[in-house]
Amino acid sequence: MNYYSLNHKAANTNFKDAVIKGLAPDKGLYFPESITPLPKSFWNNIDNLSNSEIAFETIKQFVSPEIPDSILKTIVEETLSFDFPVVKLNHNISTLELFHGPTMAFKDVGARFMARCLGYFNKDNTNEVTVLVATSGDTGGAVANGFLDVKGVNVVILYPSGKVSDIQEKQLTTLGKNITALEVNGTFDDCQAMVKTAFLDDALTSKMQLTSANSINVARWLPQLFYFIFAYKQLHKQFNDIVFSVPSGNFGNICAGMMAQQLGLPINHFIASNNDNNVVTRYLISQLYEPKKSVQTISNAMDVGAPSNFIRIEEIYKNNFENLKNNLTSYSFNDAETRDALFEIYNDFKYVADPHGAVGYLGCKVYLKDHPEAHCVFLETAHPTKFLDVVEDVIKEKQPLPTQIQAVMGKEKVSMLIETYDELKSFLLS
Ligand SMILES: *Cc1c(COP(=O)(O)O)cnc(C)c1O
Repeated sequence: MNYYSLNHKAANTNFKDAVIKGLAPDKGLYFPESITPLPKSFWNNIDNLSNSEIAFETIKQFVSPEIPDSILKTIVEETLSFDFPVVKLNHNISTLELFHGPTMAFKDVGARFMARCLGYFNKDNTNEVTVLVATSGDTGGAVANGFLDVKGVNVVILYPSGKVSDIQEKQLTTLGKNITALEVNGTFDDCQAMVKTAFLDDALTSKMQLTSANSINVARWLPQLFYFIFAYKQLHKQFNDIVFSVPSGNFGNICAGMMAQQLGLPINHFIASNNDNNVVTRYLISQLYEPKKSVQTISNAMDVGAPSNFIRIEEIYKNNFENLKNNLTSYSFNDAETRDALFEIYNDFKYVADPHGAVGYLGCKVYLKDHPEAHCVFLETAHPTKFLDVVEDVIKEKQPLPTQIQAVMGKEKVSMLIETYDELKSFLLS
């Protein structure tokens, strides 16, 4: 598959180059040249397909011929070695649990898929690739875990000091080997800005091959389309008006859901559930796209002031505002509402959600008021114990720690504190 830059000032390139570059030379995000819907027979036969078979069929067009089918089969099987269960809360609301991977956040899938693609492309290459990634919380851990020990790849993670949860910090600072954590005295937006500056810095890029493992990278972004199909498979016999409420930050996950829709997934509507970082909620009301500095919330992985994937969503709906509004609703909720929702989900359904999932749940509730016939699935994007302080404080009950979390708790954090882009640059050149 070839990809074009959404800034339209760089040459088209194939999947391999799009993955290795991350961002196009004109700073644009890459987008596939074509999207071919899967045949009706695929959707009719979905009950008989395993998760790996679904993944293989749906991602194939985007990665071939750069990744041969036999390799792709292995990559998706290894990537998807855990479950994606839907838990029904009542007749109108379910949650899709995306936290059963090694770092207990949905980003495991994209990170594991991308690491394996890059490992494949790099297998005969003597030049090392440096993956440079900014994290608002969960990307760092997922990327660190996914890329640990991948040959020829060094990973440098930038995270905002004091603005990720303890467990998130442990997950990205305790692995060592080819993974380095840089603790930035600033916000996530500052981290993201430094990464972008690095990609545009010729003095750096002439000396090293830099790539990104944020959802701007097509190999991180596209595999997220699997989730929506896995959920559909589990629910389509019971419900015919399924909508997804996606807790959104950089809008990569929801945008991948829209790609699944382009492939023919029979879904009518998406809800982007935001915290107070609500540029898209405001845009759908005012038609004015006004990014703001991010503010800190208890759903920290969504503390994004300028969502990088929104431009891909605009592309999917051909920059047509009415078209977009017909497919997407967005709501935003503050921390007090999120806490109340965590309590309500526990009280009403005996289900322990995390703060991001709780924001998604609130999106479902508002949407269902006007669409009582719909079945709304909110994505549980991380395991509640990754946000232990908030969750235990609200539901007043101790939570058992899953083995994946226990494994990092006792380890010692290793990070390097930086403040400016120049410090990042000299680290990378050293
Ligand atoms: C990254 C993340 C999100 C936001 O996903 P985007 O693809 O950036 O919109 C939501 N919840 C959790 C737990 C995350 O880690």
